[in-house]
Amino acid sequence: MRRILVALVAIAAAVTAAVYLADRPGAVTIVWQGWRIDTSVAALALVTALVVFGLGWIVAMLRRLIAAPRNFVRARRERRRREGYRALTYGMAAVAAGDPDEAERHARRANSLLNEPPLTRLLAAQAAQLKGDAAAARDYFTAMLAEPETEFLGLRGLIMQALARGEDGVALKLVERARELRPRAGWVQRTLVELEARAGRWETAEARLAEATRRTAIPPDESRHHRAAILYERGRAAQAAGRAGEALKLAGQAHHADPGFAPVTAWYATLLAADGSARRARKAIETGWRVAPHPLLAAAYGELHADEPPLARVKRFERLHDLKPDHVEGRVALAEAALKARLWGEARRHLTEAGIDRDDAAPRLYRLMAALEDAEHGESSRGRRWLERAAQARVPDPGYACNVCGFETATWTALCPRCHSFDQLVWRLRPGSGDVATAGLPPVMAGPSIDAPRRAVVGSAALPPLDADVAQR
Ligand SMILES: [Zn+2]
Repeated sequence: MRRILVALVAIAAAVTAAVYLADRPGAVTIVWQGWRIDTSVAALALVTALVVFGLGWIVAMLRRLIAAPRNFVRARRERRRREGYRALTYGMAAVAAGDPDEAERHARRANSLLNEPPLTRLLAAQAAQLKGDAAAARDYFTAMLAEPETEFLGLRGLIMQALARGEDGVALKLVERARELRPRAGWVQRTLVELEARAGRWETAEARLAEATRRTAIPPDESRHHRAAILYERGRAAQAAGRAGEALKLAGQAHHADPGFAPVTAWYATLLAADGSARRARKAIETGWRVAPHPLLAAAYGELHADEPPLARVKRFERLHDLKPDHVEGRVALAEAALKARLWGEARRHLTEAGIDRDDAAPRLYRLMAALEDAEHGESSRGRRWLERAAQARVPDPGYACNVCGFETATWTALCPRCHSFDQLVWRLRPGSGDVATAGLPPVMAGPSIDAPRRAVVGSAALPPLDADVAQR
């Protein structure tokens, strides 16, 4: 719009000047070096305008000619940059798609096109890792430590590698350094808790856990469970060292941190009973039972009332069962108590209620029925038949299974006996039913599993993409 206005004004000025000169004709004579030119004022004005215009055009052309090489270089650099970033993008996509050769090819191309080592190094490291070339990946990660913008990512890569090699000590040093850089990174906080716990430094682990929880790196529910596990281990150590009072105190703290944590609550009840507080022991078990019935709680409850006559014990277990009437554990406990009290009909009824007739009944129900048959009729072929069924049962007895490596065990321990992950053994009514991740990666590498709610189905344990942290920044 403005251009049109300017053009209109210029045309108007030219027309006005032309009209002005036409109305006032005059003559101009130029004499120079033996030359003489006679002309009109209008012609001179026109020639002058044409000469000025022509000179302007020549100057513009010359300027463009002089700038050409520089522009050519700039355009070429811009094209290389664009192609470099495209190679980087393709490389990242290849990493995400799990194609190491393609990733490596693009990494090399990006490296030759872009003069940005931090960016291309990350891609090269990921490509090397994908290829299984740990040494090359380690070199790239180590080189990344030198640049402030990639130091954290380099540390993360090295930590993952150290953990995969099982070098917890090396990993811990690197995580400490990562913590200095970014104390708010969730995985840093979680890995610190994990490594201190794995090393059996329970008091340090407890402090780290408190910090991780404060920084919301670990959800409150999970944090309580971890705290109970740590306090349990501290209490066990105190008990082993003969400090019974301290053990009882720690067991109480552990129980209160997570009353539904059966191994902790059962142990606390045992300590209370030994300390002469049977009433408090009973209350602790009942509190735990209300949250989550468990065979360990039933066993501790039985111990507590071991001296009572069988019929009174049955009454006790009825009371326990009534706290959580729909749960199978109460039925199983009642069946056992009725069996001991020789109440055959009662015991059978409880076993039926517990699901012994279903074709996915647990072997423990068949074993109880075998014991019942033997107790009622003496050693008989009927008892043997139930034991055979127990041996052929399609599903295993309830037990603990590791969230990380899938290891199955009957007894809970704070560290998985196979992969040494901290507090990853989860009670399952049907272990091995396919809802446990089976990849043998430690939990910090598994990423999601450490965040997953306890007793929840956990997805496959896969290494989270390294650039996940770039997004967090
Ligand atoms: Zn494990």
